[in-house]
Amino acid sequence: MPPAPTPPCAAPEHALSRRILVSGGSGYIAGFLIRQLVAEGWTVHTTVRSLAREAAVRELLAVDNTRLEFFAADLLHDAGWAEAVAGCSHVAHLASPLPMGVPRHADELIVPARDGALRALRAARDAGVRRFVMTSSVAAVAYGRGRGEHHFTEADWTPADYPGATPYIRSKAIAERAARDWVAREGGGLEFCSINPSVVLGPVWGRDYSASVIIVKKLLQGALPALPDIGFGVVDVRDVADLHVRTLNAPGMAGERFIASGPFMKLRDIAAVLRHHLGAEARRVPTRGVPDLLVRLAALFNPLAGAVVGELGSVRHQDASHARAVLGWVPRPVDESIVDAARSLLALGIVKP
Ligand code: NAP
Repeated sequence: MPPAPTPPCAAPEHALSRRILVSGGSGYIAGFLIRQLVAEGWTVHTTVRSLAREAAVRELLAVDNTRLEFFAADLLHDAGWAEAVAGCSHVAHLASPLPMGVPRHADELIVPARDGALRALRAARDAGVRRFVMTSSVAAVAYGRGRGEHHFTEADWTPADYPGATPYIRSKAIAERAARDWVAREGGGLEFCSINPSVVLGPVWGRDYSASVIIVKKLLQGALPALPDIGFGVVDVRDVADLHVRTLNAPGMAGERFIASGPFMKLRDIAAVLRHHLGAEARRVPTRGVPDLLVRLAALFNPLAGAVVGELGSVRHQDASHARAVLGWVPRPVDESIVDAARSLLALGIVKP
């Protein structure tokens, strides 16, 4: 008589169903991540602050609706998080405020970023989630060193209280630190890792785009008369989504931290890419630089200028070789991300040609 077949290895129900919570479903990066996850067979739970937004977000995402469920949850309140994560084996926590301007008080960003991450973590642990991927930022890695050229890896941390730290930088540094400390103390078996992107560009899908794309919009519109001596690492939204998927699928991610960045570019480099690829559509992109002294003077009465003063003359190389080596991540050339952001802003009429 042939031996009885070996029973299948008992896997927990949620591990088989590939069900994930992506917080902040109305967001720019979340949109690309949700599309990729659904295409790969995941069932996605997502949160919005109010279910009044569900229909509009569903329409924009345009995925198989049977694989997408919406839940109302706000970073500032406990309600809804337990329901949103129930039955999920994974969480990608993207919701966090990324405002277009500078808030009056830093706590407007710090409190939702930090307390919201802790709410999502607690709900995830209590629901038996296996892996929690937090979308942090290079804001938590690579700021606060001042002028000159600096190199950063995942071992680096932005001091959350350095002079000139913007509320957004502080919110990301404080939230990631708080999340890691909480996981070490109370996380139980929850595997935690973070992805730390630089400035995310790439195609925009609708009129509700991320604040990171504003810089391309302002350059195209000629809203900046001249270019301050500042810059940032650039990374494509499609590559950031892809890196999230890799961290969700790969084994052994506990404690990991992955910088997601392409090369550091000064504003003048980004302006040059736009002029090179867009011809007449880039005619309002400025060519001249603005002296640091003028930016410092403007900062006395303009909060947006104030937010960049600390970055004047600073070059921050953010080394993404860890993600390349461990996860096989290969980001596209950043010129493509800059040009795709610009072309989509023009195509959607957000920037008039
Ligand atoms: P986004 O489009 O502005 O998305 C932010 C999301 O957070 C939105 O869904 C927003 O919901 C949600 N949110 C904000 N405050 C909330 C609150 N109190 N309760 C519930 N949800 C709230 O920005 P994104 O670029 O996709 O950013 C996603 C994540 O990536 C954020 O954690 C951000 O810090 C991080 N990140 C972004 C960049 C970048 O350059 N874009 C770079 C590094 C890291 P509403 O639509 O209701 O406002």
